[in-house]
Amino acid sequence: MAPARIEEPIETRLFINGKFQPSSSGKLFKLINPLTREVVAEVHEANEKDTNDAVAAAKAAFPAWRDLEPHERGVYLSRLSTLIRESNDELARLEALSTGKPISRFNDGMVAAINFQHFAGAGYDVQGKSSLNTRNHLNITVKQPYGVVGCIIPWNAPLIFFGQKVAPALAAGNTVVLKSSEKAPLTSAYVATLVEKAGFPPGVLNIITGFGHPTGSTIASHMDVRAISFTGSQATGQKIQAAGAASNMKNIVLELGGKSPALVFEDADLESAATQTQFSIQHLSGQMCMANSRIYVQESVAEKFLAIFKEKFGAVRLGDPLDANTDHGPQIDELQYNRVKSYLEIGQKDGTLAMGGDAKDGYFIKPTIFQNVPEDSRIVREEVFGPVVIINTFKTEQEAIAKANATEYGLYAAVFTKNIDRAIRVSKLIESGVVAVNCTSPTNGVDMPFGGWKSSGVGREGFKSSLDNYLETKTILIRISSE
Ligand code: NAD
Repeated sequence: MAPARIEEPIETRLFINGKFQPSSSGKLFKLINPLTREVVAEVHEANEKDTNDAVAAAKAAFPAWRDLEPHERGVYLSRLSTLIRESNDELARLEALSTGKPISRFNDGMVAAINFQHFAGAGYDVQGKSSLNTRNHLNITVKQPYGVVGCIIPWNAPLIFFGQKVAPALAAGNTVVLKSSEKAPLTSAYVATLVEKAGFPPGVLNIITGFGHPTGSTIASHMDVRAISFTGSQATGQKIQAAGAASNMKNIVLELGGKSPALVFEDADLESAATQTQFSIQHLSGQMCMANSRIYVQESVAEKFLAIFKEKFGAVRLGDPLDANTDHGPQIDELQYNRVKSYLEIGQKDGTLAMGGDAKDGYFIKPTIFQNVPEDSRIVREEVFGPVVIINTFKTEQEAIAKANATEYGLYAAVFTKNIDRAIRVSKLIESGVVAVNCTSPTNGVDMPFGGWKSSGVGREGFKSSLDNYLETKTILIRISSE
């Protein structure tokens, strides 16, 4: 993919009721290129009124959208899928410019397109059950859309979450207000231009951006929003859950952070384990929820594992995200860069720096390893969201499991071993929504449920799980008269 110019002007307005419009307050905020620190775009910020307008538009559009048959709704989703697929290169460039994500690592457009493609044909899976188990009754359940759904997404892979949330919500017959992250609003705004091209009825899908407060918090506490799907940090998830409960007891799906462990046993294929685990924590400069940020290696093979890991981890090419040869971009912004640096200080104080550190070149952090870090250190317990990995050791299987589980997070875990009994024993005891055997994140199964145990989230998303997140169940009891 050759670096090329961005289409000018970049669309940054709010997409409400089928129309692009400026923020009603006239407020714009600047988006900074994390490589050059130049202003990429000035973005319209949705205030409370704009957010309320978006919800009102979605509410008005709901009855007609609900009453379409699934294949009729599917036509729009299918068109949008094609348009996103065709725009993949442009979307990659927008994300690279504004968030520092290398175009070589961009698959977000394709993932979004695949979600719209899948859910375009999934509407007929919305079905209830029937029962003759009550005397003189035929009882049935039906599944019905909530009405207006709020989708709130983070900055690290915006379009992936856009597709995973919006596509099933619409396929189930809901209308949507999507709020993109204030740090990464450009690709969502671009997709809004595609929604317009796809000819969606006005108000069915409204796309706005703005900060957590007031844009996100207005959605979270809105009385006409009945369900929310959120991906982001644990702290924000807690606020949304509290606001949702305090307002109208919203149905809320939360996909939150992680501190994912990878366990490498002495009988594992060390080359494969090292290659995969270093990719997991390096990918997107460590800004991935399921990155294996804690690696526990059995003592007897620790040295050998570390040597292979270091060789591969150090070989990544830091550089301009628009250059197809770059596979390691800067952290998204100064705030995130400083946050990662503060964890580097903790790592240096509590453990041993084996390689990496601050690149001292813009917002770049080199792939970084700390060893021998006490398990109660903040860098072992808290999500860093940077290319920083802890490699500690263990002696026994029990110790490995105990260390893996000693966290409030439970999003993803990996186990590397050639012993099938051990793989299954460990998978059973790990407290995590996903356990990968002889592979690690970002490996995923699109038709498998994805989500967190413990404080990593509530609910599951996936081709076979997501529709249910956007549907109420109604029981209808039908009495049959005896002759
Ligand atoms: P964040 O929680 O700061 O922000 C996420 C979104 O929530 C943004 O759109 C933000 O504007 C909005 N928001 C902030 N405060 C709000 C409020 N009070 N009410 C409503 N909305 C509000 O997260 P982030 O920094 O954008 O993303 C990084 C985090 O996301 C990490 O913790 C990462 O692990 C997590 N994440 C999880 C998954 C997953 O699938 N489990 C995937 C990607 C990222």
